[in-house]
Amino acid sequence: MLGTGVYLDEMHENIRRAIINTSGFLSTIFVVYFVFAFLLVNHYIRQLETLVVRDPLTNLFTKRFLNEILPPILSKYRREKDHLLAAIFIDIDHFKAVNDQYGHKYGDVVLSQIAHMMASKVRPNDFCIRFGGEEFVIVGQFENKQSIIDCAERIRQSIALIPFSFKNVQFNVTISAGIAIYDGSEQFFEDTLKRADEMLYHSKTTGRNRVSI
Ligand code: GH3
Ligand code: MG
Ligand code: MG
Repeated sequence: MLGTGVYLDEMHENIRRAIINTSGFLSTIFVVYFVFAFLLVNHYIRQLETLVVRDPLTNLFTKRFLNEILPPILSKYRREKDHLLAAIFIDIDHFKAVNDQYGHKYGDVVLSQIAHMMASKVRPNDFCIRFGGEEFVIVGQFENKQSIIDCAERIRQSIALIPFSFKNVQFNVTISAGIAIYDGSEQFFEDTLKRADEMLYHSKTTGRNRVSI
């Protein structure tokens, strides 16, 4: 009888240990599963954010970023009186001819190289946005009027020097730009953008490859 009692105690102890081991194992799987699921969801959210905010061809900010994410940042900028908030509207000159002569695919290469050059000429806190097809907007804070003109001129000149080459044909591409400075009275930043677009139109109608303010 005593032998059977010891045997039963041992069996209960073994079952208890087995349960503890199994529940420990299950908890570990549970924790690993949730950490993994959390990381995966986080990864996809970040990818989605990037898709909404960054243009896939140029890696510049999207128009959606300009319309939906930038306004609160700009509201803060607009209250800062020690800097000028400005928009530079940029459009590639005769880009349709680039597509017609070298094909849409190489047109995309030209577009992304121009965007890359543009992004390399602004400061880290400025926003470089692909506004539409071959139109771009740069929004930033500048010390004074001259520093805005210098920035736009730097972009214009460096783009004009990019050596493009398609099937041994060498060519250059130029851009036109229009600048508008937020004047403190406009309710919406779109009004400033509209004025920059009007200045861009002025550059287009007065010979292209130039900056107007
Ligand atoms: P302008 O100097 O007056 O600006 O002349 P333009 O030829 O650049 O202007 P227009 O608006 O007539 O043509 C813009 C061209 O840009 C037409 C369109 O096919 C091309 N385009 C727009 N988006 C893209 C793109 O993502 N890739 C390529 N390859 N071309 C594009
Ligand atoms: Mg255009
Ligand atoms: Mg154009």
